[in-house]
Amino acid sequence: MAVNAYRSDNSCSLEGVVPSAASLRVLRALESAGLEAWYVGGWVRDAIMGVPSHDVDMCCSGSWEESERALLSADIDVVRSGIKFGGITAVVEGERIEVTTYRLDGFYTDGRHPDEVVRAGTISEDLARRDFTVNAMAWHPERGVLDLFDGRGDIQARVIRAVGEPAVRFREDALRMLRAVRFACRLDFAIEPATCAALAECAPLLDAVANERVGIEMCGILATRHGGDAMLRYPELICAAIPELAAARDFDQCSPYHAFSVYEHIARALTVAGELSRFRIDGGDPDSEASLSLMWAACLHDVGKPACFTQDAGGRGHFYGHPEEGAKMARSIMRRLGLSDMLVRDACTLIRYHDMPVEPERTSLLHAMQLFDRAGCDVARLMGELFDLKRADTLGKAPSCFYYVEEIERMREMVRELVANGDAYSVKMLAIGGRDLIDAGVRPGPRLGELLERALQAVMDGRVRNEAQPLLAYLGLA
Ligand code: ATP
Ligand code: MG
Repeated sequence: MAVNAYRSDNSCSLEGVVPSAASLRVLRALESAGLEAWYVGGWVRDAIMGVPSHDVDMCCSGSWEESERALLSADIDVVRSGIKFGGITAVVEGERIEVTTYRLDGFYTDGRHPDEVVRAGTISEDLARRDFTVNAMAWHPERGVLDLFDGRGDIQARVIRAVGEPAVRFREDALRMLRAVRFACRLDFAIEPATCAALAECAPLLDAVANERVGIEMCGILATRHGGDAMLRYPELICAAIPELAAARDFDQCSPYHAFSVYEHIARALTVAGELSRFRIDGGDPDSEASLSLMWAACLHDVGKPACFTQDAGGRGHFYGHPEEGAKMARSIMRRLGLSDMLVRDACTLIRYHDMPVEPERTSLLHAMQLFDRAGCDVARLMGELFDLKRADTLGKAPSCFYYVEEIERMREMVRELVANGDAYSVKMLAIGGRDLIDAGVRPGPRLGELLERALQAVMDGRVRNEAQPLLAYLGLA
């Protein structure tokens, strides 16, 4: 939910961004109880950047119990969302506002949960333990912006800079490294040189972070559509997050079709996939979120290549079986990172079939659609993503391959028509079902399925119309 409104004539605003009425009510309720409270983190950063923010984080001098009491006495609902860490959530008219006690200790995203929160005496101490300068500012309607680490300067310079000594901060919490990349990708900022050097140096520390947290941050990075940049700019970190990609680095493909190493090819394909999910060749809404199945598929589509590499007598490289091997590896990577079954299924199906020979021809396309249907995917959506992936894959090769893009687009158009016409690629789409076969004298049993499958193949091959009479006649039942 966008909680910012823009108004230039209001004194209660930060750079013209007016905080939501709900968040102001929370702030005033805390203050009425004699507590000190500030807006912190992403909301302040986004307001200063002039972009809409999706949620408000607030920081308060009181213990969570004191904050809860203050809010309840102002008739504000409270959820005890993170009391172990001094955090509660105020709920006002459906808007959720996180209220956290000033703290001295870290965020413990690597699983080292403290028994007790170490409270800070002041907002300044609380800000000092935050991750990046742009995230370490506080704002109050009357007191204004509290910016102890020149977050504003870094916003202007468009850089992500660790608060304090970067390596020390990454040793405290290695997840911050992926957060740095996620924010850099999302905001289109560079990572300041010392912070960037510490990323490469401390990348192995990511091992200590729970796999699910790595998965969430990787999804966050891919969702920015700039995952390809992240791969190229921060390879040590990305390979620490997904160690299976390390073998692709500097892997020479020994092929005239490939101008880049396996890793760089993947990164370039991922960049194009990100662009496609914005420009939407398929006519979709460019403002909708990037498809994670496409992003993950692009990121891992050739992860199986190094394991499948062979060279022929002429020294030319081949990667027979890499889509199958890649899909297998991607499944294990994505499961380890705690990604949803549906996302794993869709991405791995795309990887499995990304190199399958398809032609701009009805039967060939229907067979591809059948494979996607059998994998349990939404055929129309996933076929669109297959063409995005194929296009991205092609444009990450050598220019001599680029001609294939036209054929891909012809196939995309043909599939759109096949879907619109309701052409059958599954027995469920046939004009006859098991019942019709039984009525025509077939005994119930596995033979029903075999006959329907035969009928489907004939329809897909264009040998018979998808209508009851011709189908029964084709099967010798009419
Ligand atoms: P988003 O728009 O993605 O929500 P955000 O900056 O609000 O961005 P959150 O993950 O919601 O990010 O965290 C809120 C704030 O808490 C951050 O701005 C930062 O100040 C602090 N923070 C969060 N995680 C960490 C961490 N691992 N280490 C240090 N500070 C952190
Ligand atoms: Mg936030």
